[in-house]
Amino acid sequence: MVGALLSRGSLALRFPAEIEARFEADAADERRRWMVLTVLGQALALLCFIYSDYHMVPDRWPLAVWLRLGLLLPACLLLAWLIARSTRPAEREWLAMASNLVSGAVGLLVIVPSDSPRAPAYLVSLWIIALYANVVQRLRFPQAIGLGAVTFMAQAWAVQAMPACTAYIAVPVTLIGLSTLVFTLYAGHTLEREERHAWLMGLRQSALQRELARANDILHQASRRDTLTGLANRRHFDEFIAQVWERARQDGSPVSVIVVDVDHFKQLNDRLGHLAGDDCLRGIAACLQRCLRRPADLVARIGGEEFAVVLGTTPHEQACQAAERVRGGVLAEERLQRTGAGGNLPVSISLGVATHYPHAGGGTPLALMQDADAALYAAKAAGRNCVRSASARPEVPGAQGLREVSP
Ligand code: GH3
Ligand code: MG
Ligand code: MG
Repeated sequence: MVGALLSRGSLALRFPAEIEARFEADAADERRRWMVLTVLGQALALLCFIYSDYHMVPDRWPLAVWLRLGLLLPACLLLAWLIARSTRPAEREWLAMASNLVSGAVGLLVIVPSDSPRAPAYLVSLWIIALYANVVQRLRFPQAIGLGAVTFMAQAWAVQAMPACTAYIAVPVTLIGLSTLVFTLYAGHTLEREERHAWLMGLRQSALQRELARANDILHQASRRDTLTGLANRRHFDEFIAQVWERARQDGSPVSVIVVDVDHFKQLNDRLGHLAGDDCLRGIAACLQRCLRRPADLVARIGGEEFAVVLGTTPHEQACQAAERVRGGVLAEERLQRTGAGGNLPVSISLGVATHYPHAGGGTPLALMQDADAALYAAKAAGRNCVRSASARPEVPGAQGLREVSP
């Protein structure tokens, strides 16, 4: 919607309701502050008019002082206070406009009844109010138009009501007023349009930034996932094991790894086709995830039909038990076994387990993987469908060298 509004480049000073509400909400605080300031500023500026009242309408000067100090000043203070408390945008704008109406009314009350020959020319001061409202205060366009219309009618009435106001004065004063009004309305309209346009651009930029961050996030996730099984891929596995290793180095906990390889998978592929093979890999991946659910565990597909599991803060015996659980889980998985049965092949896996204690010095994630791989080879050599374990660290009880876990 924002893009459409920007490309339309409309002259209208109103967005569709939802966007308008957001624009107003974003601008509200700043605008309220500015309105309060300009209403107070206006009161001060019009107090200075007491001096020009003295020269232009001396016969009305006491009334002028009284009206400006006793009516205009309190009215502006009250309006500023109401604006500061206003919650609705339209209310704030109308209150700001009201301060200009009060200023104009005070001007009329001082000028129109005056017998001073300078009084008709002093009607120009009414237009100063409209100029201030449109350019300094920057009333929203509907209020600015309203104020302009009222000022014009008031001026027309004053010209009629003042006998001393001849055409020689009335025409130039009205022309000066009208041109001031048109130019400042045009300026106000342009400024508001630009303000709205800049706000839309900012909105679009932040939406684009959010979209970019989301796309980056998706890309980042995708670059760490294996597309066939949905498991973590090798890259994610390497990052994860490095993190787990570092944490274990600091807190003294063990890090275990299980490497899993599907038995006779080539035969299954050859007999049932690659699609059935893929299906089988997905089934094994799901089984691994079901059997290993601790938050510190990460299951990854690290090669064609090879998987690996990092088990953070897990001692060797527990890792061996987890491996045994996974092996049994695959054998018990009906759907997997049905697939294998099509090629007369029971689906099974071989697993190698290794555990290191990084804080005890030496060792690397790579060495840990090599130990787990060696254990996996031992499992294959022992006839497959079994778990073998190894530990590079002598402090793992009973785990020196390769040993049999199952069956
Ligand atoms: P072993 O018990 O010794 O592990 O024998 P194996 O047949 O499982 O091992 P081998 O390394 O000889 O064959 C692995 C096969 O896995 C070969 C390859 O076609 C298959 N493979 C690798 N990646 C994929 C894959 O993404 N999808 C499918 N369907 N097959 C794959
Ligand atoms: Mg293999
Ligand atoms: Mg294999």
